[in-house]
Amino acid sequence: MTDSDDHDEREVARICAEIGALGRCLPGSISARLLRCGNPKCRCRDAEVDRRHGPYRYWTRKVGGKTASRLLSAEQARRYQPWLDNDRRLRALTRELEALAIRAAERAEGWGEK
Ligand SMILES: [Zn+2]
Repeated sequence: MTDSDDHDEREVARICAEIGALGRCLPGSISARLLRCGNPKCRCRDAEVDRRHGPYRYWTRKVGGKTASRLLSAEQARRYQPWLDNDRRLRALTRELEALAIRAAERAEGWGEK
């Protein structure tokens, strides 16, 4: 085993340990939207000042290629934000694991060397 293999081995172990400690990983994101209602006389129609209703918080994600949204209360948004953060971290760690595996395969096989 080379020093590089040894170093990468430790990196893989570190990443797997971090993934193991992540907990719940919720895909998608939370966004806040200001909206106009259907009442033509409502203050939210004011052209001078932005008086739209909200913010309304939505959890959105892709389901079968389509965007799916759910309206969240402020409390729900606070509760689920850490789960969304975990999912983002999981994706970053997965990409790191893939990069390490590609490097290991290239080194083992002599690929990428001229
Ligand atoms: Zn309105």
